[in-house]
Amino acid sequence: MKTEKTFVIIKPDGVQRSLIGEIIGRFERVGLKLVAMKMVVPTEEIVGSHYTLDPAWIKKVGEKSIKGYESKGQVPPSKDPIELGNRVLEVLKKYFTSGPVVAMVWQGAHAVPVVRKIVGGTEPLTSDVGTIRGDFVLDSYQMSDTDGRAIRNVIHASGSVDEAKNEIDLWFKKENIINYRLVQDAILYDVNLDGLLE
Ligand code: GDP
Ligand code: MG
Repeated sequence: MKTEKTFVIIKPDGVQRSLIGEIIGRFERVGLKLVAMKMVVPTEEIVGSHYTLDPAWIKKVGEKSIKGYESKGQVPPSKDPIELGNRVLEVLKKYFTSGPVVAMVWQGAHAVPVVRKIVGGTEPLTSDVGTIRGDFVLDSYQMSDTDGRAIRNVIHASGSVDEAKNEIDLWFKKENIINYRLVQDAILYDVNLDGLLE
């Protein structure tokens, strides 16, 4: 549990909006440890592989989108979640390949759900205040779908421990994930806070 890893990408809009430092700072201050990082311009192939690691993702993303519309009393662009999901995958390829992104692996207790909590919900219009997407973005399903582009929500984070494992294997070589100790690990995880007093 204490060494759980999660995969994060600062998407092209996050890099362009100079949010790299802000985003890294939010994960650092909660106590997570950065164990791998690189800047790349993704290819369509890697984006396609990334989003189809989970064969059920296409349908899930479509269903989530339909719910997002219906919860606001709006009509979704399609009632078929698979059709919607496939449309999202195509616009995601365009989005991710438009410029450099920063890919990272963060490690620590409950890394996957803690990072998702800090990142916030998919649609910035309804992401909680205080989350990265809630604080820095004003996009919506309606606006992005009307313009035929992906929701620009500045960051990706794995949704589950299994998703994280697969995504880390896709984006990083094993030898580029660094096992090291941070001084603060003792304060976060040691059972007894021995050695603090002189
Ligand atoms: P996440 O895990 O919160 O990033 O959300 P998903 O895995 O469901 O979707 C991946 C990404 O696709 C999101 O972060 C958005 O950038 C984009 N996206 C998801 N759903 C929609 C949609 O219905 N319309 C559009 N235009 N983009 C979407
Ligand atoms: Mg996702």
